[in-house]
Amino acid sequence: MRIFRTVRAMTAWSASLHREGVVIGLVPTMGALHAGHRALIRTARLSCDALVVSLFVNPPQFGLREDFSRYPRRFRSDAGLCRAEGVDVLFVPTGDEMYPPGFATSVAVQSLSRRWEGARRPGHFEGVATIVAKLCSLVRPEIAFLGQKDFQQAVLVRRLLEDLNLGARVVVCPTVRDDDGLALSSRNQYLTPAQRRAAPVLYAGLKAAQAAVRAGVRSASRITRIMRDRIATEPLARVEYLSVCDPHTLEPLSRVTRGAVLLGAIRLGRVRLIDNLLIRGDQ
Ligand code: AMP
Repeated sequence: MRIFRTVRAMTAWSASLHREGVVIGLVPTMGALHAGHRALIRTARLSCDALVVSLFVNPPQFGLREDFSRYPRRFRSDAGLCRAEGVDVLFVPTGDEMYPPGFATSVAVQSLSRRWEGARRPGHFEGVATIVAKLCSLVRPEIAFLGQKDFQQAVLVRRLLEDLNLGARVVVCPTVRDDDGLALSSRNQYLTPAQRRAAPVLYAGLKAAQAAVRAGVRSASRITRIMRDRIATEPLARVEYLSVCDPHTLEPLSRVTRGAVLLGAIRLGRVRLIDNLLIRGDQ
């Protein structure tokens, strides 16, 4: 496995592979890799000739009061996981390499950034869109592999790649969960033991809503109430938002269709958890 720390090394490699017609896959991450990332890497490994994983804790996607400085950084174990999974290139740029002095550009995917995570984390999706646009220009993947765990992000990145003709398409991989249903996340380690015990309530709320739709309930406000009531059984949990949306526009629905997506975010103390469920899906 090659480890590139500079834009120059990364672009030289991708340009030479492009000339040979090699299909490159990209799994963009912020590191602290877990079984969710591993599943993305495995799917990507099977569908591409050459596989690049990026590890970059991207400052612009963190708000001022968010956890940029304490976000877990575990280069050695991340590199070990990638090597074991047959990754060809680990791209680990520094902040200066990605944002040199004078850097002044930001990419915004207007409509899809407004709601849900975008409303609670101002600037977050501009940070995400800008780094994904840069990574795709450098790595030139044919496919970018993203997790359903971050549903809004995946929808937004798909739009971005299409709108800017970045030459890549998105493959969304299912959410990997702990046995009790909690979606794996690098941030789960911030939870205290009591918060960790409470955390699966978000998924339980989504499952309850999914079951209600499958049983014939169609009113979005009733479905949202079912989620809210389930989450209210856990005194440590505070709801940030719960919604039933169109899976492409992410606009809220008043009548629930079978293609809809349930989105939710809760707070346990200072830790935010997000999750989602497709009415039709089983993740
Ligand atoms: P992150 O390192 O948290 O920015 O995530 C990198 C990629 O891994 C994103 O596309 C995430 O959606 C995906 N991911 C994170 N957690 C999971 C999970 N539990 N299951 C599947 N994909 C995930």
